[in-house]
Amino acid sequence: MFRVGIGFDIHRLEEGKKLIIGGVEIPFEKGWVAHSDGDIFFHALTDAILGALGKGDIGELFPDTKEENKNKSSDIFLKEAIKIMEKNGYEIENIDAYILLQKPKLLPYRQKIIQNTQKITGCSNIFLKGKTFEKLGDIGQGKAGACEVIVLLKKF
Ligand code: MG
Repeated sequence: MFRVGIGFDIHRLEEGKKLIIGGVEIPFEKGWVAHSDGDIFFHALTDAILGALGKGDIGELFPDTKEENKNKSSDIFLKEAIKIMEKNGYEIENIDAYILLQKPKLLPYRQKIIQNTQKITGCSNIFLKGKTFEKLGDIGQGKAGACEVIVLLKKF
């Protein structure tokens, strides 16, 4: 039995903040404006897994109004979603994602992000594509970055 889930996240970019994607810190002049570490990939992936299970969303599980979630490393959110998934008898068959970011290029960091995500999720079929926004809108002007994820869960 299969279940499919979709996730999306967007955060503003500001100078002097950390740019973390998939738990990997990417050297860049700007980073995420967020309550947690702003990791758009892990946020969207967490939402996709929870959505596939019909078990709520990241905002319900980890409200950004709570002080305890401030500056929290987003692998904690993802690990919690994995725990819920396993408790419900599912594993991840594959993950596919878009990172929508004008700058910097994702390619040099892609393998590291995939490996890190494999470690947390136990999924060996992960793909990640970097895409610019052709200089259009806020993403295209480097004011924000977004991520779109689709995940397939399989009953074990
Ligand atoms: Mg987020």
